[in-house]
Amino acid sequence: MLPVPLLGDFHFESAALAALIGAFWAGWSASAAKSIGLSPKSDFLQGVGIAGYIYLVALPLLIFSLINGCFSIDGLGFWVLFPLPSVFFGYSIGRLIRRLQLSAPKTMTIFILLLAAAGELLLEFFSFPQVYFFNHVWGSWPGPIYDEAIHVTGSLLYFRMMSLLWIVVLWYLPDFFKNTENKWMVGMALLSLLLSYTHLPEMGIISPRGYIRQQLGGHLETPHFQLYYDKAHYSDTEIQRIALKHEFYLDQITRELEVDKPDSAHKIESYLYAHAWQKKRLVGAKFTSYVPVWLKDDQLHIAKQQIASSLKHELAHVVAKQFGNRWIHASWSIGLIEGLAVAVAPDESPRSTINQIVAADKPWPDSREMQDAFSFWGFYGGRATVNYTTSGSFVQFLLNHYTPERIKQAYRSGNVANAYPVSFDSLVAGWHRVLKKTPVDTVDRAVSHRLFSQLSIFEQACPHKIAPPYAAWDSYRYYVADYDTAAALKSLQQAYELAPQSELIWAQWAYYKMREGEYSRVLKDTVQADSSLIRNLIFSDATFMKGNQDRARRMLAHTDALLREAPDSLLQRAIRTRYDSLQWARRMQIHYGDSLFGPEKFQELTPVNQVKQVQKAFDLKNWKKITEYGQILSQSALDNMWFDTYLNLIDYVSYFGKYKVAADFIQNVRSLKLRPRYQQRLAQEQAWLRFVKQHKAELFPG
Ligand SMILES: [Zn+2]
Repeated sequence: MLPVPLLGDFHFESAALAALIGAFWAGWSASAAKSIGLSPKSDFLQGVGIAGYIYLVALPLLIFSLINGCFSIDGLGFWVLFPLPSVFFGYSIGRLIRRLQLSAPKTMTIFILLLAAAGELLLEFFSFPQVYFFNHVWGSWPGPIYDEAIHVTGSLLYFRMMSLLWIVVLWYLPDFFKNTENKWMVGMALLSLLLSYTHLPEMGIISPRGYIRQQLGGHLETPHFQLYYDKAHYSDTEIQRIALKHEFYLDQITRELEVDKPDSAHKIESYLYAHAWQKKRLVGAKFTSYVPVWLKDDQLHIAKQQIASSLKHELAHVVAKQFGNRWIHASWSIGLIEGLAVAVAPDESPRSTINQIVAADKPWPDSREMQDAFSFWGFYGGRATVNYTTSGSFVQFLLNHYTPERIKQAYRSGNVANAYPVSFDSLVAGWHRVLKKTPVDTVDRAVSHRLFSQLSIFEQACPHKIAPPYAAWDSYRYYVADYDTAAALKSLQQAYELAPQSELIWAQWAYYKMREGEYSRVLKDTVQADSSLIRNLIFSDATFMKGNQDRARRMLAHTDALLREAPDSLLQRAIRTRYDSLQWARRMQIHYGDSLFGPEKFQELTPVNQVKQVQKAFDLKNWKKITEYGQILSQSALDNMWFDTYLNLIDYVSYFGKYKVAADFIQNVRSLKLRPRYQQRLAQEQAWLRFVKQHKAELFPG
């Protein structure tokens, strides 16, 4: 197992495989006829012996993990909790069959174990929207491994306790009538099992839709959707805007692919979680948004922070179910599944089009490599971002040059070549011609390099190991998303103490200290001052806030000098705006004091401070100020650098019904020299404005 990616790690994958093998092995030998004469004691010893061999297999994995530093307590936990109970689960079944003296005991045992291992999995898989699973034979599957951090949870302990109860029942059942002790044992274990089975959703063992809905609490119905959302984390304004986005994207996708919208009896269910951590707890996927295409009813699962970036993508998966194959309502080619969604929602980068990202990374994949990317195994083996973008660009080419009917046929059959009138080679050649005509600049090359150099989980040295500072950072982010500031600050402090050298963690830590007015505490860290621009900038801010203006100015000049060695225009503007004391003071009021200025003061701000002010209004969800600022900026001189902020404003101003302001704003932004991707995104905002104008009133009267 050592050389195999993931299986070579001393973690849940290898533990699950060992448990699976152990259960079948133990079941087989327990049911074997030659051991009929075994006493309960020697049965127990034989089980222990099999477990011993299984753990012998683990030894090299354990040693190797200790040597290469990948060892983790969770990995050890999985190895304790998976194989040992599974061996005895398998053994107790085989032993029961043997003791009952049924015919063909081995076949019978294997059959029962297969039912428990695969039958139960399939039953849950096709009944519930969850993507994690527990199993008495092979332990558990914690959810999509792209999320990386995988822990031994209370749910796993609970489930393994159930495995133990099953073992007790099966072990003592053959001797049930022998004495009262055995009767009690079996009776109590059965009673406990019965109780355990009534609490499966609450204990996180299964996630029926009804339970998820009850946990989320919020519900909103639109012409084509049932939205279930976390009541405490979405305001009425937010959820209504998100609902309208659902309808908007559905309208776009169904038009582009020439398919029907769902009828009123089969509305798409959208499960919108408070945050990734709640989603992880309820369905097993953390940051990964997903659509369980294999289920009959249409549904999608997204956490709040991922809605903006992945709603359209996931909706494309839902719509594509209509022309998926009859088994999983999707394509056997994962490249086609993801390629189609990316082609319809080409949001891999805010700066570059998907064609530019692919075109910037030469050599382009040839016909053979593309064939591989569209095969079942080729996709997930490689780096995810490469495959998503490349297949997306290729499918977009197919959509632009042929009727949607052909892509639907390819999708259903999982075979691209057969669905098109020309050979696969000439399709790829045609796509290459488009890439050749795609203009690529240094920004695209940088985006492409960054996206394409992300390591796939198979390439990482320790695929499941999370360093302690980042575990603390993760819980900091969880508490922020869950509105628990006190706990968030505690985790942040912990992360800071574990890794004071991390700029990411330090900047966030310093932000809170500055808000509390603890400037001296921040300045204490100046001993660590290095060439980090962010650190130096925050030090000058702290000095400025302490009232030592001259010294602050000298520090700022020092930071500016550092910047010249590594020019970055965004940061440069943030520094330059501080040369004016009034603007510096204003920036501090906005950033650390949560000030939202009125129109007059807003107009006096420098552009970089105006953008900061708009971002703060978004952070504080002050819709009135957002509309006000949008109105002012729609008439101001604009700058390419703040394109994202403009689009965000246009999006909300449109939604709030200020159609004239939005239209003027779009006109104003269009007068800038825009990158191709910016043109795409602006066109999308224009379509949104049209859609809101036409449909908002009928969806949400008043
Ligand atoms: Zn997808």
